[in-house]
Amino acid sequence: MKINVTRTSLPPFEDYCEEIRKLWDSHILTNMGVEHDALRDALQQYLGVPHVVLFTNGHLALEAALRTLGLPQGGEVITTPLTFVSTTNALVRCGLTPVFCDVCPEDGTMDAAKIEPLINERTVAILPVHVYGHVCDVDAIGAVAKRHGLKVLYDAAHAFGVRYRGVPVAQLGEAVMLSFHATKVFSTIEGGAVCCSDAALARRLADERNYGIRDEETCVAAGGNAKMSEFQAAMGLCNLRLLEGELARRKALDAQYRALLAGVPGLQMLLPRPGVTPNYAYFPVLFEGEGVRDRVKEALAAEGIGSRKYFWPLTSAVEAYKGCPWADPSATPVAARMAAQVLTLPLSADLEPEQVERICALVRQALATSA
Ligand SMILES: *Cc1c(COP(=O)(O)O)cnc(C)c1O
Repeated sequence: MKINVTRTSLPPFEDYCEEIRKLWDSHILTNMGVEHDALRDALQQYLGVPHVVLFTNGHLALEAALRTLGLPQGGEVITTPLTFVSTTNALVRCGLTPVFCDVCPEDGTMDAAKIEPLINERTVAILPVHVYGHVCDVDAIGAVAKRHGLKVLYDAAHAFGVRYRGVPVAQLGEAVMLSFHATKVFSTIEGGAVCCSDAALARRLADERNYGIRDEETCVAAGGNAKMSEFQAAMGLCNLRLLEGELARRKALDAQYRALLAGVPGLQMLLPRPGVTPNYAYFPVLFEGEGVRDRVKEALAAEGIGSRKYFWPLTSAVEAYKGCPWADPSATPVAARMAAQVLTLPLSADLEPEQVERICALVRQALATSA
């Protein structure tokens, strides 16, 4: 049986049918109906944030946040290249210039000590990524931002359900973007959100999401359309009820991986910083170099096991940005090395312990034969 790197969890079919039954009565399928409002309220409660503005996907949520934070066009935003291209594309699509900061070798998050030298008069914001659900050094990043009067927007697409010193990541930052894509820990099929505590920012985000329309006769901003539909919200409500169980199963599988791969020569596991309560979104491991990493990937693929090189290539090395002066992978040597070494092994809530055993045996075997 084929194993993919992620597998979307689904609620029982009957639960979803029950949840969407009311839509057949109301015929209201989108435009912030009852399901949308119920999911928003449930997430505000679960995440402990005053405002959760729901979007049709995480990428448009990120773009909306960039557009509504009041960042001057053409400004530079300090971010990281060890991420999904969405993070970098969002900046470029919003007329901002990415400036890549290197990452910490322990967990892949932005190295806060390397931010300050990148700041100049054109710098307007910092966009760090809680990559793999590993929480950034939010205190140090917040302190640098404060010293220089910069806004901080977090890409927390990987970090739904993650806490740092007991505080949900949604509360850490001026604006925090979440993704509810089917491949993420919590899914609304496609979906996302921006979390914030500023009511005026939440209002601008809502305008950005729905054409700037406040009522039938009032349009206050050149907004687009990025609304979450009732069907997406209904899926979210069903999945939210299952979240605790999902996280517990992921935690057990993560522990099993760590036990079976501990001490394997030529393999390093990443760990979030102390104080992080993880969501076990991914299981990234590092090999000694690109050649052995690629051989392990091929050995797994030959047995029907999908793994991914998250995140290779760096977003500063993709074809789209070839020739851009800001896109230079050699400017972030730690990230470049990690991208060449990393392989993300399968992890999803319904993976069987026997499958983890088999994957680990194959990894060990591939390492032994390519030594
Ligand atoms: C998934 C993801 C996004 C985009 O979210 P979508 O909901 O897929 O649009 C952005 N950034 C990162 C790091 C992601 O992994």
